[in-house]
Amino acid sequence: MQILVTGGAGFIGGHLAQRFAADSHDVVVLDNRDPFYDLDIKQHNIEAGQAAARNSDGSYEFIEGDVRDAELVTDLVADADYVYHQAAQAGVRPSVKNPRKYDEVNVDGTLNLLDACRDEGIERFVMASSSSVYGKPEYLPYDEQHPTTPVSPYGASKLAAERYACAYSEVYDLPAVALRYFTVYGPRMRPNMAISNFVSRCHNGEPPVIYGDGTQTRDFTYIEDVIDANMTLLHEDAADGQAINIGSTDNIEIKTLATEIRDQIDPDLDLVYEERHDADAEHTHAATDRAEELLGYDPDHTIREGVAKFIDWYRDNRDWYEPLVRQS
Ligand code: NAD
Repeated sequence: MQILVTGGAGFIGGHLAQRFAADSHDVVVLDNRDPFYDLDIKQHNIEAGQAAARNSDGSYEFIEGDVRDAELVTDLVADADYVYHQAAQAGVRPSVKNPRKYDEVNVDGTLNLLDACRDEGIERFVMASSSSVYGKPEYLPYDEQHPTTPVSPYGASKLAAERYACAYSEVYDLPAVALRYFTVYGPRMRPNMAISNFVSRCHNGEPPVIYGDGTQTRDFTYIEDVIDANMTLLHEDAADGQAINIGSTDNIEIKTLATEIRDQIDPDLDLVYEERHDADAEHTHAATDRAEELLGYDPDHTIREGVAKFIDWYRDNRDWYEPLVRQS
């Protein structure tokens, strides 16, 4: 099976490409190595995919290029059986400063892929969407019928992209699924995320810094559970044409997360509170019934288990990863 993974030098795409290669698929990664965060992490992601291919019957090819380049996208999709579209301009806060770039990459880039997938008749188009499409909660947990009123340009761009994917499925019979991820974490995660930050500070004897009063809630979802959900879509067609929540079943407050990490690393540390950023969502919480019903989704990791795995990985990779977290 040949699988095109866009954004495959990034966190989630990197793990996806690695898993596909380990499972002996032929993986092509398209990524422009966007300098949104340090490129060292992207290099580690690429090397993880290459290593997985060396240890299996699969292959791994990295193409440096942009999803906004329609010609390149068309050429790459022509050889693919599946497309897993993870490339995006990510991050809620920076989208407030530069909304147009989010539109160009996240919406136009997705349309380039959708056009090519429709014309080539690929097996399935799977795209990364986000809990940010929901906006302010009218009720929680969010199920997929919850109104979508994003409160950031990032959320708006992800919503537009997933709506196009579902429309292409409806109008052109393109098998397409959008997975709405809820705060994914794990090895090689973006260095500017709360979990990497808390872990790094605690390892350096510094209290974790919480923005706001810490009662904001999140579904922190461990990367392996996200990858498992994606893998199911290699053979499962029940979700075609739909956007599906992929969260954890373990919704927690940020201060509980910080406490859990602090307790696992250095229980003597305090917690520190600073001013909250307006663009941050107050609460996100996924109803995962539809994912369970259609994809057999059953996340394996509690927050305690996922954090423990991440801390183990962090300790093994501290020499190169920690400086990136510290400077982010
Ligand atoms: P990431 O930033 O680590 O990965 C995105 C990758 O896309 C990067 O390697 C980047 O270089 C690449 N990219 C950016 N613009 C590109 C372009 N124009 N052309 C080609 N490649 C480009 O982010 P991530 O955390 O791995 O997120 C992956 C996907 O999941 C994104 O679509 C994101 O919106 C979505 N998502 C992530 C989370 C999360 O918690 N990490 C939550 C919800 C949704």
